Amino acid sequence: MEAVSAPWSEPGLPRRRIEGLPVPWITPVWWGAADWKCVDTDRLRRCQAEWLCQVCGDPLPERAWVIVEAGDWVLGDAAMHETCLRIARRWCPHLDGLGCPLVQVGRAGILAGGRRLSEIADYGAEELRWTLAS
Ligand SMILES: [Zn+2]
Repeated sequence: MEAVSAPWSEPGLPRRRIEGLPVPWITPVWWGAADWKCVDTDRLRRCQAEWLCQVCGDPLPERAWVIVEAGDWVLGDAAMHETCLRIARRWCPHLDGLGCPLVQVGRAGILAGGRRLSEIADYGAEELRWTLAS
């Protein structure tokens, strides 16, 4: 089944709302219902390969925000604008409950599948797990 191309699939802010909640760009929407527990993997791969924001889908500045889990794993494997991070934390309070650090980082500070993101010329067809480079 293919996600329905609807206004909530457009990049940018403000995000359209479903059930009162702003729908992140990477959240699949099926016939007007957001699938909150799933990720549109094509869009996630685009966020990773093209340095797009996972919340709004727009291009990111040189340095953007990630939420870092234990083991230096990047939560959601994609970055966000500062404004979009605030939106995510406001509407997903459990993000704060995780107690994970918020880190501002550039592409050189991310390892995608073990390779430095800034040095990957062809990202490939698959989304990759992200970690912070040390
Ligand atoms: Zn954004």
